[in-house]
Amino acid sequence: MSTLFPALTRPSEKTALRFGEQSLTYSELAGVAGALAAELTPGQRVAVWATPTMETSVAVLAALLAGAPVVPLNPKIGERELAHILGDSEPGLVLAERDAALPAPLDALPRTAVDTTPRPGPVALPAEPDEEAPAVIVYTSGTTGPPKGTVLPRRALTATLDALRDAWQWTEEDVLVHGLPLFHVHGLILGILGPLRRAGTVQHLGRFSADGVRQALEGGATMLFGVPTMYHRIAEEVGGDAELARALAGARLLVSGSAALPVHDHERIAAATGQRIVERYGMTETLMNTSVRADGERRPGTVGVPLDGVELRLVDEEGQTVEAMDGETVGEIQVRGRNLFTEYLNRPDATAEAFDGGWFRTGDMATRDPDGYVRIVGRKATDIIKSGGYKIGAGEIENALLEHPDVTEAAVTGESDDDLGERIVAWIVPGARRPGEQELADHVAKQLSPHKRPRVVRFRETLPRNDMGKLMKRALHE
Ligand code: ATP
Ligand code: MG
Repeated sequence: MSTLFPALTRPSEKTALRFGEQSLTYSELAGVAGALAAELTPGQRVAVWATPTMETSVAVLAALLAGAPVVPLNPKIGERELAHILGDSEPGLVLAERDAALPAPLDALPRTAVDTTPRPGPVALPAEPDEEAPAVIVYTSGTTGPPKGTVLPRRALTATLDALRDAWQWTEEDVLVHGLPLFHVHGLILGILGPLRRAGTVQHLGRFSADGVRQALEGGATMLFGVPTMYHRIAEEVGGDAELARALAGARLLVSGSAALPVHDHERIAAATGQRIVERYGMTETLMNTSVRADGERRPGTVGVPLDGVELRLVDEEGQTVEAMDGETVGEIQVRGRNLFTEYLNRPDATAEAFDGGWFRTGDMATRDPDGYVRIVGRKATDIIKSGGYKIGAGEIENALLEHPDVTEAAVTGESDDDLGERIVAWIVPGARRPGEQELADHVAKQLSPHKRPRVVRFRETLPRNDMGKLMKRALHE
């Protein structure tokens, strides 16, 4: 009996997972993952070499069935960071594809090859652990500091996935197209475990491409999970690609998360397809916090409302709860609920600091509209610029810059300034034509207000992004 994945206990010939030509039905998956689970030791941590493959999905599932906490490893990770993660999380073995070439820090660990050849199942499984037992230990993206091992209990997984079922009207009929990596919450927990909990189907593209998305949707897929850089690519292509537009128009739900979706990309996709992307907001430590609901208004630039079971409040610098729902008063988002992690591994100090009496401090700043829709202004650490007595969020300036026809990518940061305290700096990847600095400043002054205009513009060929397409603002200044 699996309470996380009831569909595995009533095996069927329905396709559970598809990676390219390779697929497994629920019966086959129960057999394959069950056999691997029988080789694992309950409670013993297992590292998973998390390539975007069937093997990774089976390995993670097997570990969850066995009650062995999973540490997913980014296969592109550098050796120093890998050594840090292994030293911190101390897994007892590593699960990987048979032929994967693993880097040196993994040499010391026993290795078990993941076999995905269908075999008769199911097998007897060990007793399922308590819902507070650690299920997955995910390292944060490291956007603002060294990655921290976030211990996620089993109940956080079920709380988030079941809240998303309601918000997105997610059913077993849904076929998810997925092109994200499998070592973060988005790609692994939402993208693989979500459909398996719903008894639906996942079609993983291996590598994201707009064309792959089109083909999957034409083949009957109903949902797409993506990060903003993927929707940016789609937005760039969809205007001139009627087939892509038609395929997207037929989807049930397009979902974006992991970073702010530029309003400009939301609007361009809506104009070409009639589809308004649903944005949700979450993080490693809390899984999902808010989402626009499938039956709710799709308001661009917002991340919707708290999910069922999630309490959310905004707190100002004095530690007071912000009551105003005026779309203007900014506070730090704090959340509470069964979706939360239990601790940062080996970091009692960081864990204690992260909480304000049971509420998790997200480090993200936001306002609320009168009807409760949350608008993320940016991260407290990198996106709030204190300039000329104002506190200015980088996000709205980035959104305004992206609306300029000659801007392809934009990032906004603050830099210390003798007169202003901080001055606004815009980092721009230009389009075919390179816009003038004054022109960009005027554009922002006109769209927003004069004190929000960039004082300095720096042109770049690319902006530093991580494997989820998140802007690495720390790296801009290096
Ligand atoms: P680290 O904590 O190591 O610095 P990280 O915060 O980027 O890295 P994640 O947990 O993967 O690691 O990302 C969560 C963060 O991503 C959130 O705190 C928020 O800043 C951002 N985020 C996620 N979804 C959205 C969204 N829809 N809009 C804006 N920001 C988002
Ligand atoms: Mg974070």
